[in-house]
Amino acid sequence: MTTVTLIPGDGIGPEVTAAARRVVDASGARVQWQQLDAGMATLERTGEAVPEAVFESVLRNRVALKGPMGNTFGGRFRVTRRARRAGGEIEERSYPGPTIALRGELELFANVRPAKTFEGIGSRYQGVDIVLFRENSEDLYIGAERMVDEHTAEAIKRITHAGSERMASFAADYMQRTGRKRVTIGHKSNVLKLTDGLFLKTCQDTLAQYPGLSVDARLVDALCMELVIRPERFDCLLLPNLYGDILSDLTAGLVGGLGVAPGANIGRDCAMFEAVHGCAPDIAGQNRANPSSMILSAVMMLRYIGESVAANRVEAALGTVLREGGKVTRDLGGSADTTEMTAAIIEWLERPSSA
Ligand code: NAD
Repeated sequence: MTTVTLIPGDGIGPEVTAAARRVVDASGARVQWQQLDAGMATLERTGEAVPEAVFESVLRNRVALKGPMGNTFGGRFRVTRRARRAGGEIEERSYPGPTIALRGELELFANVRPAKTFEGIGSRYQGVDIVLFRENSEDLYIGAERMVDEHTAEAIKRITHAGSERMASFAADYMQRTGRKRVTIGHKSNVLKLTDGLFLKTCQDTLAQYPGLSVDARLVDALCMELVIRPERFDCLLLPNLYGDILSDLTAGLVGGLGVAPGANIGRDCAMFEAVHGCAPDIAGQNRANPSSMILSAVMMLRYIGESVAANRVEAALGTVLREGGKVTRDLGGSADTTEMTAAIIEWLERPSSA
């Protein structure tokens, strides 16, 4: 039995994580849940966006399923950590939002975002099956921004050899495990010669040690164009943090939007699975959210913990509901609410013929 930390999050987070939990429970997976709160609502209620107990739980269980969380928009908040540092001393760091705090403090350096065409989902493309690897800890997201004077702001873009090598090795190992063969590195080293140049060179050198992989590289602007013209040509993408963030929404758009885009944040000690979408305050509390991204994130989680049979069953159940189209949420052109769509997936899982 695997214990998973479940963090419902803000906005639609509690609705979509409850849906994913019910689906996993119906899948036959040997999973039990430890539910803990974090996010902006938790910050308002307790004064702490990510309480220490949440970090402790994820580090102990080594796996978490997390709902989307709000952000501070402009402000930063402090996270006080006691447990992880040697000697138990108190250390404070500041982050622009709770999700980034979790990724940073848990050292979840690899972000994996698959984008796959599902039959029944309106999209301009067919046959897209891309896995995007985004470096999650460096680049412009280290938070080193400052006002130089009243009219000028600047930010530091940090790329390291160690961070790029760790990311490229992770991508190569993942590809070998999942039978993928081709990876395209996205960069802008014609302009950012030192930073993106280091990322490109380190990734090329690291990937060259994996003989079965075919590796190419594209300037990230040209890559965007090629992706919207012929996305079915791409297999895996490997990107630094900022480009990965932007291109993963683009690849989600290629297969029908944020409602069907799952994600994983993986580190050495633990992994946290979450949908690509945010907490959608405009539809929160209305039972309208599409639970598919969160359910697909749970599928990735099930594979990560070795529950592949349950993962395949959940994916098949969701695929059937999407293809049949009668019980899908409004963003997918249907009229079902979150509860009805979730019930349809569970109904498929509980059919004797699906076992
Ligand atoms: P969003 O993804 O929350 O919403 C964008 C649009 O997509 C909205 O119209 C929303 O209704 C719709 N949408 C999103 N998920 C949906 C779903 N499952 N079903 C149906 N419709 C869905 O992006 P945003 O509005 O830019 O951000 C809202 C908040 O979420 C912000 O505070 C942002 O910082 C945060 N955010 C958090 C995460 C995370 O926790 N990983 C990721 C992205 C954004």
